[in-house]
Amino acid sequence: MRDPFASAAAIRDAIRRKDLTSRDAVEASLARIGAVDARLNAFRVVAREAALARADELDRRDEPAGPLHGVPVALKDNLSTRGIATTAGSKILENYRPIYDATVVDRLEQAGAVIVGKTTCDAFAMGSSTENSGYGPTRNPWNLDRVPGGSSGGSAAAVAGGLVALALGSDTGGSIRQPAALCGIVGLKPTYGAVSRYGLLAFASSLDQIGPFGRTVEDAALLFDAIAGHDPRDATSAPRPHEATAAAVREPAAALRVGVPRHLFEEGVDAPVLAAFEASLETLRSLGATIETVELPHSPLGVAVYYLVATAEASANLARYDGVRYGCRRPATSLEAMYEASRSTGFGAEVKRRIMLGTYVLSAGYRDAYYLKAQQVRTLIRRDFDRAFEKVDVIATPTSPTAAFPIGARVDDPLSMYLADIFTVPAPLAGLPAISVPCGFTPEDLPLGLQFVSRPWADRLLLQAAAAYERATAWHERHPAI
Ligand code: GLN
Repeated sequence: MRDPFASAAAIRDAIRRKDLTSRDAVEASLARIGAVDARLNAFRVVAREAALARADELDRRDEPAGPLHGVPVALKDNLSTRGIATTAGSKILENYRPIYDATVVDRLEQAGAVIVGKTTCDAFAMGSSTENSGYGPTRNPWNLDRVPGGSSGGSAAAVAGGLVALALGSDTGGSIRQPAALCGIVGLKPTYGAVSRYGLLAFASSLDQIGPFGRTVEDAALLFDAIAGHDPRDATSAPRPHEATAAAVREPAAALRVGVPRHLFEEGVDAPVLAAFEASLETLRSLGATIETVELPHSPLGVAVYYLVATAEASANLARYDGVRYGCRRPATSLEAMYEASRSTGFGAEVKRRIMLGTYVLSAGYRDAYYLKAQQVRTLIRRDFDRAFEKVDVIATPTSPTAAFPIGARVDDPLSMYLADIFTVPAPLAGLPAISVPCGFTPEDLPLGLQFVSRPWADRLLLQAAAAYERATAWHERHPAI
């Protein structure tokens, strides 16, 4: 398979027909990584030897191991991989090698996938540009001076640049959907509880969810099917059978009722984003969808609520990085001083900012005013969605108010970085599934994304809606020149 942009489904089928071996597929991916990743920095670690050995092992089998037999996959570096460095993008975990695999890694093995490496991300998944990585920023394959989005920017760039067909990311407030949009690929944040988070290095536990990236909706569905389903090792994983999605995305979708919360676009959304969004609604209409305006009155508060809830949870989750059991330890004369030295040097500026914010909003005297109030508004955000979904099947918005911005443009202005999460934070606050699908380009040839959000457990419907839109458009057929 010479085409670096061949789909995972095509690679899998070629291996089944014996037109290709798993080793060929993995070697092609490794060669492409070798050729372009010095420019992209999408990969933090390439597991070359392990991937080739695994491919050979798969090639010796008589029967396909599973639906991803032989397909190279990349993993965001906050997913635990036994014996392979797992840093979550932070220097504090520079030398950390987990002694166990995340459940999603086990499931990928069962599905026959080959893990080729770990991808660059914002430290502890905190960010929207991959510039908060302790290991250098990742660059956008469409324009090397631009960010790929974040925090799963390495995974998105790896897929968009044709280094792999599939990658996993994690999404707490947009970290799968926003980089998917900025890199011109598909990214799904599943319903909260659909995918086990055992082995995910936690950021904000009431929001975090692992999900797939692919260049087509079908590929994202294949990867989602491989990782979804109950896991007794994650108490938040829902004990319900997974409804397979990959076959369903090929079927024509029923006429959709699409809700559009126009009041969210009144300011701060770039003109090319709005133009592409309106054109997408026209395409949906031509497919038989009905479009109506919906109100999500509390969603404008989403960013404020998110940055209270997520930082509060992060301050608790990151307390474990104290230099004692794992991660970097700085020697000092007392235990207290050792904690301080290890955390001050190991954590980057953004992680420290979040820990301080989170500690503040949980502290005595402020907890009720900030944290509790945020939880109350979070409930109101969810109720707005419940009400909207009484009359529509999906809610459509742009995924991001802008296309990929220049590297460095927002690093000194965290507030502008946070405000750009306006369209992606409401869904995780409400536990809802959401997807981003390519929907056009700016005049500068930067990709744009269309987001659909739906009811809890409507992941399959979301993928079908995205697939119907994809079939009617050709955006996914364009690839960066890198
Ligand atoms: N951009 C958001 C943040 O900085 C979302 C990150 C994520 O989803 N992990 O927190």
